[in-house]
Amino acid sequence: MAHGLVDVRILQREYLLAISRAVTAELDLHDVFRIILRAAVDLVAGKAGMIALHHPELDNSVRVAAVYGIPAPLVDHFAPLLRDIPQVDAGEQEAELTRRLQLVAHRSNLGFTQMVRLPMVSGGETIGLIYVFLSGTPYHLPKDAASLLGSFAEQAAIAVKNARLYEQVNKEKQRLDAIIQQNADGVMILDQSLRITDFNKALSRMVGRLPEEVIGRPHEEIFQWLSLKSEMDLHEALTNGWPLPGAAHLYVEGDLQRPFDENLETADGKRVSLGITYAPLMDGDGRMTDIIANVRDLTRYREEEALQKTFISVVSHELKTPVSIIKGYAGTLRRQDANWSPEVMQDSLAVIEEEADNLTDLIDSLLEVSRLQAGTFNLEVSEDLQLNRVVENTARKFGSQSEKHEIIVQFADDFPPIWGDERRLGQVMNNLISNAIKYSPDGGEIMIRGKVHPQHVTVSVRDGGIGIPDHEQHRIFQKFSRLDNALSRKTEGTGLGLFLCKAIIEAHDGRIWFHKNPDGPGTTFTFSLPRN
Ligand code: ATP
Ligand code: MG
Repeated sequence: MAHGLVDVRILQREYLLAISRAVTAELDLHDVFRIILRAAVDLVAGKAGMIALHHPELDNSVRVAAVYGIPAPLVDHFAPLLRDIPQVDAGEQEAELTRRLQLVAHRSNLGFTQMVRLPMVSGGETIGLIYVFLSGTPYHLPKDAASLLGSFAEQAAIAVKNARLYEQVNKEKQRLDAIIQQNADGVMILDQSLRITDFNKALSRMVGRLPEEVIGRPHEEIFQWLSLKSEMDLHEALTNGWPLPGAAHLYVEGDLQRPFDENLETADGKRVSLGITYAPLMDGDGRMTDIIANVRDLTRYREEEALQKTFISVVSHELKTPVSIIKGYAGTLRRQDANWSPEVMQDSLAVIEEEADNLTDLIDSLLEVSRLQAGTFNLEVSEDLQLNRVVENTARKFGSQSEKHEIIVQFADDFPPIWGDERRLGQVMNNLISNAIKYSPDGGEIMIRGKVHPQHVTVSVRDGGIGIPDHEQHRIFQKFSRLDNALSRKTEGTGLGLFLCKAIIEAHDGRIWFHKNPDGPGTTFTFSLPRN
């Protein structure tokens, strides 16, 4: 049945309204197609319709995207209509199309006698086709209906384009999310109202909070600084007019308290030092739309800085003490008016000599550290070093210095000669034994054992002293680190000994570690060296 001209105009408005509503409502592409197909089929009093899309990404194939009035099991029969469809609608292939339509009508048994085919064009390119199938006696499309169908095709093309753009944007967003998430630095994004919209894994580890816990929350709630190193934080900067046109970055540095959560390893309640660079994103009118923040964990750097500071005060103290002792003794001995007995002279000179040795040791340690830092630390190895001799010599030296301590050396009879730097390994023993003495002020036994294993040898130094608290385990081998206890304030030391021991042993491809004595007070330090 054909429509009169007035009908067509009314229908035209209704259909177009419905379609453009569907397109702008961001409905699912399938829903939009269904509405368009129904309108197109109704308009020409057709029986069925079909939309097929070009897929440049899938070998340029043409695939059915939506049908109306065609039972699903029969859709495959329409394949001949999809093959070899020209990029631009070519009227001269009419005859061929009619032949194919007859084939399809026959196979599907749907009795179609006529077909209207409309290209969907977007950006000058045919991205798909709309088919409307009619049955019964051939029907001549009124001109208005034809142009209306054309506008349906246009709408369909817009909907496809939107959907594809949407998909592309989505993909791009996923890619961006992945880049942010996988970034080794901490990254977060704040929206205009300074709420956190993105928070990556690295940042989550730094501040000890899970992303799902902070996303959507205000920045100032999460970043409550304990102390600030920079002049102002983000919020002060914003009140002071940041960002100015030109959109300079803002750098904020400070300390933050990590929350405590025993189930979350990184939420250990400790302080972290962070450096955050906030970069504003501006729109075309110069309004800030988002802030991207890059976050660095500066904790280790800060700790190093604090260590350097302690180092300077410790070293200057350690240097000053022997120098002033030497100066004091030398000055006394030099006094014109005094007549010192030979014993006093001897004792004083012995003190001067000992303090000069201490100074030399300290200067040697400092030189070693600077060699390590400069990368010019080279071993002077001998192939068959008798490690037990080195140990015995060092033990003897200390044995004569301390009456309270008894140093026992026990080496396996088959302890083999090893590959090593005699002077450096002597330094290691020197420090381990001196520590054992220093940190067992009540005296006692210091047991040094040498053991042989198939691939390596070990030397251990066991004392019965004050021990090392468990939580200091990771710190002890660090440069300039001395444990804060009453003893370390009384005893001399720079905190370089164990740091150098570790460097020397590792340069020999060995390892050094310690453990609490299982059967008594004190600590046992052990190092291993490879046998070959
Ligand atoms: P230096 O060796 O430079 O003269 P130091 O002995 O203080 O100074 P390290 O040998 O590096 O430095 O030791 C670091 C810290 O580890 C010491 O200050 C001490 O607090 C602790 N320590 C080391 N050995 C022992 C030990 N056997 N028992 C208890 N605490 C120890
Ligand atoms: Mg020491």
